[in-house]
Amino acid sequence: MKANRSRDTHPELAVRRLLHREGHRYRVSHPVIAAGRRIRPDITFSAMRIAVFIDGCYWHGCPVHGTLPRSNAAYWSEKFARNRSRDERDSSALEAEGWTVLRYWEHEPPGAAAAAICARIEAVRAQNG
Ligand SMILES: [Zn+2]
Repeated sequence: MKANRSRDTHPELAVRRLLHREGHRYRVSHPVIAAGRRIRPDITFSAMRIAVFIDGCYWHGCPVHGTLPRSNAAYWSEKFARNRSRDERDSSALEAEGWTVLRYWEHEPPGAAAAAICARIEAVRAQNG
């Protein structure tokens, strides 16, 4: 249940609903192996090699809302830094294998994120003819 909770966050659901409404079909938390890493993008368009991440402001240390808990600040700051560097390694691994990686913060308006994702899908489709 814990895993589901972290996965089906509200902003992510909102983005998924909008993409679905636009007629786009995707996989959710589908594992992708890239550069020997097992990565689970939040939303995956496998055929077009587009991976979308909706990063939680807290765990991924968003510059606007990423506040450190007061107790054990050193522990948390190290943990969040680890999360961020894992995000970066995941992105690089995917990009190295030809994936387009799109990352959004959970505080970004879902409509804007969905519109940007749709635009990217159209661009990739146009490119592939
Ligand atoms: Zn934020």
